[in-house]
Amino acid sequence: MSHRKRVIIIGGGFGGIFAARKLANYDVDVLLIDKQNHHLFQPLLYQVAAGILSPENVAIPLRLVFAESDNITVRMEEVQNIDRSGQRVFTDYNEYDYDYLVIATGSTYNFFGNDHWQKDVFTLKTLGGALRLKNHIQTQLESSLITHDKEARKKMLSFAIVGAGPTGVEMAGIISEIARQFAQEEKAINFEDITVHLIEAGERPLGPFSTYLSDYSLRALHKLGIQVKLNTMVKDIKPNIVETSEGTLEANTIIWAAGVRGVGAVKLLNIDKPARGNKIQVDEYLNLHDDDKVFVLGDTAEFMQEDRPLPGLGSVAKQQGIYLGRSLRKLCAGKDKSELKPFKYDDLGTMAIIGKRAAVAELPMLHLKGSAAWILWGLVHLLLLIGFRNRAVVLFDWIWTYLFGNYSSRVINNVNYEDKATVSPELMKS
Ligand SMILES: Cc1cc2nc3c(=O)[nH]c(=O)nc-3n(C[C@H](O)[C@H](O)[C@H](O)COP(=O)(O)OP(=O)(O)OC[C@H]3O[C@@H](n4cnc5c(N)ncnc54)[C@H](O)[C@@H]3O)c2cc1C
Repeated sequence: MSHRKRVIIIGGGFGGIFAARKLANYDVDVLLIDKQNHHLFQPLLYQVAAGILSPENVAIPLRLVFAESDNITVRMEEVQNIDRSGQRVFTDYNEYDYDYLVIATGSTYNFFGNDHWQKDVFTLKTLGGALRLKNHIQTQLESSLITHDKEARKKMLSFAIVGAGPTGVEMAGIISEIARQFAQEEKAINFEDITVHLIEAGERPLGPFSTYLSDYSLRALHKLGIQVKLNTMVKDIKPNIVETSEGTLEANTIIWAAGVRGVGAVKLLNIDKPARGNKIQVDEYLNLHDDDKVFVLGDTAEFMQEDRPLPGLGSVAKQQGIYLGRSLRKLCAGKDKSELKPFKYDDLGTMAIIGKRAAVAELPMLHLKGSAAWILWGLVHLLLLIGFRNRAVVLFDWIWTYLFGNYSSRVINNVNYEDKATVSPELMKS
């Protein structure tokens, strides 16, 4: 019988794995549960959708991450329920006891009350979503060469991206570049035949960045031939149609990149009054206000710093994970919560990429744009990727794509990608 404390971590994203890493090989038993068998590096998903990177290069099996840590057990299960009074977690097939529980279940796209739009758009949040989008884009491009119907062809070569935050801008930029590449390869298509719309309700792209960088990004988007529609509200989405406050757009590819909301935690913890964006309010130690045994972090937590909630960023989740891992070491060794230091987010800056040699980086003392920001973006993302092999392969693929303009992962396959690994009930029976 082990007398060590048991920590359960739900979610192997940025928050979950950095918390687990800090507990690796310490005197505590850790159970990491994720409905997927991998950690996913979401910031590079758009490059999977673009056919630059293979899915294996932006994800790493959780089992591999913790191969050297005897005290960490990984289980691929979906948590369905939590009994806080009994300190127990329920999955479809098992129940587990905990001394401390960490919830890092992340976020999903927010349709602001219009969840029915989801079926007519693509989103970038999972490997399945990125691969579906890649297959779709490549199929549209190939089909445009063989159709005899001019109108159908126009829609195949029209792309609408909703939301001009970093994900929307990145996606619009890369689609424009793929299309340009395609037009160069296939003389039957002119670049002018391709339309990329970027729809934004606000008055500028990359809203949270300084006006200087946002203005630069607008110029860079225009240079890529992207039609940026600012101050434009989406009113309705139907199959291949986006109705906006400024008119109707037809496009066979509609990508939703307009805001996220917390997922999982509110339901699992039975929280009556979630914070804005379906998040859970936590105290300065990332604890639930009424339960010292439960911690929530990353995209699904609302952590207030200087009277503002921290943004849903990988860097926030990562710093919170590291902080929490350290705190849990102390708590599991018998220290009291009053001996812990509160969490404080150290903002090292934000970045976004627009296209080849075009990016912006807002650092505490410096605002960079163009090639300098582009190189910095690449370096930072390489360093943040988990796994040496992934870093090496991604660097190689980037150099290859840059030198030869060759999007080598654009194979279309007809696999139906699920967003969740499935353990079927039949499989679980003898
Ligand atoms: C396209 C895109 C681009 C981005 N670019 C950037 C960027 O450039 N810079 C940046 O800082 N941030 C970026 N982000 C945001 C960043 O990825 C998130 O802030 C970060 O992943 C949040 O980490 P997390 O640990 O809270 O959740 P996640 O990383 O989302 O992990 C949540 C995990 O929980 C698991 N899970 C959920 N529910 C359950 C359940 N019931 N049972 C078991 N497992 C469950 C999921 O499978 C997942 O593995 C981007 C996000 C997206 C989608």
